[in-house]
Amino acid sequence: MGRFDGKTVIITGAARGLGASHARGFAAEGANVVLTDVLEDEGYTVAKEIGDQAVFMPLDVTDAAAWETVVRDTETKFGPVSVLVNNAGVASLGGLEQTDPATWRWVLDVNVTGAFLGIRAVAPSLRKAGGGSIVNVSSVAGMMGVPGLGGYTTTKWALRGLTKVAALELARDGVRVNSVHPGAVHTSMTVSPETGEVLFTDLEALAVDRLAQPSEITSLVLFIASEEAAFSTGSEFIADGGRLLGYVPQAATAD
Ligand code: NAD
Repeated sequence: MGRFDGKTVIITGAARGLGASHARGFAAEGANVVLTDVLEDEGYTVAKEIGDQAVFMPLDVTDAAAWETVVRDTETKFGPVSVLVNNAGVASLGGLEQTDPATWRWVLDVNVTGAFLGIRAVAPSLRKAGGGSIVNVSSVAGMMGVPGLGGYTTTKWALRGLTKVAALELARDGVRVNSVHPGAVHTSMTVSPETGEVLFTDLEALAVDRLAQPSEITSLVLFIASEEAAFSTGSEFIADGGRLLGYVPQAATAD
């Protein structure tokens, strides 16, 4: 018995990193999984590895018409959608004064408008399924200021607002909407694929002084999306290795 037996799940940004991990996690719990991404080769490969209960559908989350196609094709293949994970995200490094307006708009478009379009397109299907759950992937950057990641940080705060509005608007349809806030996770967003360098984070100073593995975030996403979290909506779930605590004092680190 899996927690998502027979349920249909759509995940954005699922060709690699956290999204691919979530897709594997839902499938292992019995779900039919629709992986979506702009990275088509990688997406098809991950879906094939998972097996018959997974399909890949190309989707740029900023494309409203493409969202309609994905929802229609998902319903044809597996039936109405019970879970949407708005996971696709992009980041651009640079101070506010150095950020090109087009780059700023791209980050907002993917990270915020993409999630809005997903909720808008999938809500009727969630209703058809008799209710369900939406998980918006924010970040610890949605809980604090991160210099050099202004656009990204802005979007991750915005997802909290979007989550709360959606949670209220969809409450009477039996749809719960929550956000998840990972700290630094071992994916290509945080570890340079070229150099192996860890970006953005001073790991030695964290209470849990390492990167998370994607599966450690997936286990939280599965919980939030499942009936085990039936009393939680509009809430913020943090898995950050203690990042929001602040840094461990140097003397304690040296002991
Ligand atoms: P990643 O770069 O490995 O994966 C992001 C995926 O989103 C990629 O497959 C990419 O192709 C896809 N994507 C980008 N633009 C898209 C678009 N327009 N339409 C559809 N898909 C698109 O990064 P990740 O670490 O797996 O990040 C997943 C999510 O987790 C993001 O929302 C990210 O902000 C969040 N997050 C990551 C970390 C971390 O440390 N890795 C921490 C906190 C939050």
